[in-house]
Amino acid sequence: MFESLSERLGGVFDRLTKQGALSEDDVRTALREVRVALLEADVSLPVARDFVKAVEKKATGQAVTKSVTPGQQVVKIVHDELIGVLAGEGDPGSLRIDNAPAPILMVGLQGSGKTTTTAKLAKRLKDREKKKVLMASLDVNRPAAMEQLQILGTQIGVDTLPIVKGEDPVAIARRAKTQASLGGYDVYMLDTAGRLHIDQELIAQAAAVRDAVNPRETLLVVDGLTGQDAVNVATEFDDKIGVSGVVLTRMDGDGRGGAALSMRAITGKPIRFVGLGEKMDALETFEPERVAGRILG
Ligand code: GDP
Repeated sequence: MFESLSERLGGVFDRLTKQGALSEDDVRTALREVRVALLEADVSLPVARDFVKAVEKKATGQAVTKSVTPGQQVVKIVHDELIGVLAGEGDPGSLRIDNAPAPILMVGLQGSGKTTTTAKLAKRLKDREKKKVLMASLDVNRPAAMEQLQILGTQIGVDTLPIVKGEDPVAIARRAKTQASLGGYDVYMLDTAGRLHIDQELIAQAAAVRDAVNPRETLLVVDGLTGQDAVNVATEFDDKIGVSGVVLTRMDGDGRGGAALSMRAITGKPIRFVGLGEKMDALETFEPERVAGRILG
């Protein structure tokens, strides 16, 4: 992820730093290239435009162009703006899971990596925060998805709610809540049904489950390879269900990275975690500084 963006920006900034003295026009020309590079990385247009505008405002003043190292100053401004566009408030990795048992609702389209991410996050809570976690699949239309969660649970040593045929998602969610209370669990995670597209039924079902358990966190899982589509999906889920954060999966792939850069600016929702592979440990907290560092090489 970010390789081609990083390469493009690297080229622009190399020229800028090698140039020595810089005029305001030099800076503007470089920023035009930055804008093109962002758009090619599938960053959405308003985000790329605002980003470049903000950098231009800070980078075309005398304090920068007349300084001893103007190129480096511009790079520093870009770096700080990148962090600004990526960062939400607070620590992305800390979930609101006080008041046991805390419900976490996992939502997203089918194939986004929702079930895998549910298990990865459960493992993280168990291993790092020593939490007792219960997972339940609500995907009543796809028995294979329910079994997949059960298999992952066994693999990572996290309990799953026993599967009872014929129950609806709200009934399963309620049973998970009861079992979590009786069993002394700290957290129960509800892996909702996914579909290929957002439709009425999917939204109605997720909303009914939300209303039944009142989740502390509603995490939307989206495929980071889908660029601006990922941002559109997030906007729609947030409008219809309300999400507290986003998990971007497949960030180990060769996507262009636009989803990561546009997500918070467009949806107002922070990216909390990123998926970096199929293995159960391949989940990391989203660290804006590290991502900005990677983009700028
Ligand atoms: P769901 O339909 O949203 O529940 O999706 P799954 O959790 O079943 O994931 C679909 C596929 O994507 C599986 O083969 C996962 O192993 C894979 N997957 C999930 N997250 C990641 C990730 O971060 N990176 C990669 N490379 N593959 C992932």
